[in-house]
Amino acid sequence: MKIPFSPPHIDQEMIDEVVDTLKSGWITTGPKTRLFEERLATYCEVPKVLALNSATIGLELVLRWFGVGKGDEVIVPAYTYSATANVVLHTGAKPVMVDINQEDYNINVKALKKAITKRTKVIMPVDIAGFPCDYDAIYKIVSKEKIQKKFRPKSEIQSQLNRILILSDAAHSFGALYQGKKAGNLADMSVFSFHAVKNLTTAEGGAITFTLPRPFDNEEVYKFFRYFSLHGQSKDALEKTKGSGWQYDILLPGYKGNMTDIQASLGLVALKKYDEENLKRRKEIFAYYQSRFEEKPWAIVPLYTNEKAETSYHLFLLRISGIKEIQRNKIIDEIEAHGVSVNVHFQPLPLLTAYKQLGYKMCDYPDAYANYATTISLPVYQDLTDEQLKSIVETVIKAVEKWR
Ligand SMILES: *Cc1c(COP(=O)(O)O)cnc(C)c1O
Repeated sequence: MKIPFSPPHIDQEMIDEVVDTLKSGWITTGPKTRLFEERLATYCEVPKVLALNSATIGLELVLRWFGVGKGDEVIVPAYTYSATANVVLHTGAKPVMVDINQEDYNINVKALKKAITKRTKVIMPVDIAGFPCDYDAIYKIVSKEKIQKKFRPKSEIQSQLNRILILSDAAHSFGALYQGKKAGNLADMSVFSFHAVKNLTTAEGGAITFTLPRPFDNEEVYKFFRYFSLHGQSKDALEKTKGSGWQYDILLPGYKGNMTDIQASLGLVALKKYDEENLKRRKEIFAYYQSRFEEKPWAIVPLYTNEKAETSYHLFLLRISGIKEIQRNKIIDEIEAHGVSVNVHFQPLPLLTAYKQLGYKMCDYPDAYANYATTISLPVYQDLTDEQLKSIVETVIKAVEKWR
C-alpha cells in the first residue's frame, strides 16, 4: 500500500465551482475572490482580509508597507520554511534568527527578547505545525517601556504604531485558536498560505488579515494593499470593464500578487466544509497517532492543545527521543521503503546553503537542531483512511524499533 504525504482533497463540488468560473467569462480576480475574502473575514472574525497568490507575497508586502529596508532587523525563528527569512532579505533588511522551544517548536520568547535592538522593526512569529505562538508574551515584550523606547520610527506608519510590528506567519495555523480567538486575529497582521500542501488550499494562494490597532483604519489599509498588490493600479481589471472605466492611474510602483477567481473557487468550497470535514478528520488523525505513540517510551508526541491554545492540526511532528540525525534518516528510509511517505518539517535555516553563506551557524540554535534531528513528520490529511493510519503507525513503530 502506497501512502502519499499530503495529497489535496478535491471533491466534485470544488470541480463544479472551478468549471463554473471557467465558463463565466471571468477567470482572474473578480467576484469570487471578493466573496472568498468576506468569508475568510467572517471565519477568522477579523475586519478585513485580502486574498493573494501566495503567503510569500503577503509577508513581503507587509514588510514593504511598514517601510522595512536596509539597516533594519526582523526577528524570525531559525526553525521555519525559507519564505519567512527570504522576504526579509528581499527588502534589504537582516533576518535575526532566534532559537525555538523544544516543546512546541515555536519561537523562544526569552531568546526573542534578547535579540531586540534599536534596529528591530518587525517580529515574525511562525505558528509551526499550526500551534499558535505565545502572542500574549510577545506583546508584553514589545509593549514594555524600555523596549518601546528603543524603537526608532523611520516612516509615518512606523511612527503611528510606535513599536515593533508583530506579523504572524500563520501559513500553518488557519483554524487554530489562542485565548478563544482564531489564528489571523492574534497579531497586528497575519498571513495564511493556501499552498497545495496546506490545510486549506487554493493550489497556490495566500491571504493577509488586517487587525491593526488604532489609529489604523483596517478598511483603509486593506484598500491600500489591494492596489499595492496590483502594480499600484487604481482600479482592478474588473472595475476597468465597467462603464467608461478604461482609464486608471498608477499610484505607486506596486507589486503583483492578486488571487484569481479560479483559485478562489477552490477556496470557497473548501472553507465552507473546513471545520466539519477537514479539521474534524485531522483531529481524529491526531488523536489516533497520539493514542498509539503515547505508550511507546521513545515517542515524544507533539503539543496540540494547552490552557491557551489549540492547533490547526496541520502537521504531526513526532520526535524520537535519544536518537541522532543519522538514525532518524535511516528510520525515514525504512518507512519510505515500506511505501509510506513521511517528511521533515523543517530543516532549520542555518543548515541551508543560502543562509550559511550569510554567516548563520547551526550551533547557535541548539534547540532547533535537537528537534530537527529527531523529528519525523507523519501524514495528516482529510482523505487518509483508518486502514492507512493503522498501516502508517505500524510501519513507523517497526522502523523506529529497528534503528533506535
Ligand atoms: C508554506 C509556507 C510559507 C509560504 O507559503 P506560500 O503560500 O507558498 O508562499 C511561509 N511560511 C511557512 C512557515 C510555510 O510553511
